[in-house]
Amino acid sequence: MGAHTEASIESVDVIVIGAGFAGLTAARELGQAGLSVITLEARDRIGGRTWTDHRLGHDLEMGANWIHWVQPHVWAEVTRYGREITRSPVADEAYWHGPDGTPRKGTLAEFMALIEDGQQRLIDDVRTAIPRGVEPTVGAIQDLDRLSIQDRFDEIGLDPEARAANESVWVGHVNAPLDQTGLSSALRWVSATGGHWQLMHEASATYRVVDGMRGFTDAIASDVPGEIRLGTTVASVTQQATAAGGGIIVETTGGTRIRAQKVVSTLPANAIAGITFSPALPEAWQRLGRETVASQGTKVWLRAKGHVPRFFAYASQSDPLSVLKAEFYCTDEEGDYTILVGFGPDHTRIDLDDLAGVQAAVDLFRPGLEITEVTAHDWMTDPLSMNTWMTHRPGQLTRDLTELREPAGDLHFATTDNANLWGGFIDGAIESGLREARRIIGVLR
Ligand SMILES: Cc1cc2nc3c(=O)[nH]c(=O)nc-3n(C[C@H](O)[C@H](O)[C@H](O)COP(=O)(O)OP(=O)(O)OC[C@H]3O[C@@H](n4cnc5c(N)ncnc54)[C@H](O)[C@@H]3O)c2cc1C
Repeated sequence: MGAHTEASIESVDVIVIGAGFAGLTAARELGQAGLSVITLEARDRIGGRTWTDHRLGHDLEMGANWIHWVQPHVWAEVTRYGREITRSPVADEAYWHGPDGTPRKGTLAEFMALIEDGQQRLIDDVRTAIPRGVEPTVGAIQDLDRLSIQDRFDEIGLDPEARAANESVWVGHVNAPLDQTGLSSALRWVSATGGHWQLMHEASATYRVVDGMRGFTDAIASDVPGEIRLGTTVASVTQQATAAGGGIIVETTGGTRIRAQKVVSTLPANAIAGITFSPALPEAWQRLGRETVASQGTKVWLRAKGHVPRFFAYASQSDPLSVLKAEFYCTDEEGDYTILVGFGPDHTRIDLDDLAGVQAAVDLFRPGLEITEVTAHDWMTDPLSMNTWMTHRPGQLTRDLTELREPAGDLHFATTDNANLWGGFIDGAIESGLREARRIIGVLR
């Protein structure tokens, strides 16, 4: 079943579009099952929304950073490739905003005591909402999906001090304003951690991979039997009628045409309109692409003078940055410095060229730091992703998820956007890649 050229058109069993976690795992499984496979990747690197880049004198994750052993698909890959994990620093100091926006400072334990009741009440009905994390549309979620996280905070009526702190934590998790984000994200992720919000917090922002995501994706890529063609942007995907010989023709922006029996698209919903599909994509994909999903934030890395105490800080969802944490302690010829990671709910609120503006955003909730440099990748304006880690708007999860998983003819969809368990995370990307590879192998072999 090797790749061959036929009447000047290259032909393979399967074309995978995109070499992120979904594409790499799909291509590996397909190739190892004996099918000929080509992976076409628009960027000049693999990894997609994971990208380890050397900036501020350190290897930094511009995209995904944290994984956990309660994420079964990602953990299986960690085991398979002998990856190790290391912990992000435990904070000694906590900063947060009071309801009137005035800063508060305390210990990690004091902050956790402040949010405990609200965090539990936000997800108290998780066992009936989504009884099985692997079936995120089954249960009371069918009704609850109309609610935003903001709606739920409005309902549960916390005292203002606790409410401000609780809201800021969830803005950090969902990377979007809370009134635009479905309660579904909170419920499905906590369901994935057996109903324990503390474990969900730990799973989503504590342990990173030694050697970075680049080391991880390189290891998977080295196991992909077929070619991974970088710098190759797919322009169109055309399914041919049986009378015309069947199969799918994929054409790149450079004019190269490749024929396949099956194609796997790994594009996120927000970016999938970048390819012209014929016939047109199923309605669920078109509608979601038009609406866009909820996540719309930013992740920035900042250089602060000196070695500052280990801390985390939360501001409100109306601020440019709502989360800040000390991540790395470094020294160079200019002296000691600390690398901080920050998150904001709206990527348009931060201008990386305006250092004074960034300093002001930091001063709002973590006074006393001198920021000397800032760097980020704007994933929202990047046409190849147009998203960060996916969270749904109210109603989108139960309306669309089942249909998003269905192949359209010989076109399959593998993306964290249509995963069951950890949708939005790396784990979901791997789940989707394994799922679609298995389906295709079942048909083609
Ligand atoms: C800032 C940020 C922080 C995050 N933090 C975490 C975290 O801590 N933990 C976690 O688990 N997850 C996190 N995530 C989410 C995680 O990165 C994604 O869920 C996961 O990487 C998605 O994988 P994927 O393969 O589904 O999609 P992608 O990685 O987006 O892969 C799709 C691929 O398709 C390519 N492509 C697009 N269009 C075309 C085209 N026309 N032709 C050819 N190729 C094309 C893209 O270049 C890309 O490589 C974060 C994401 C971001 C952006």
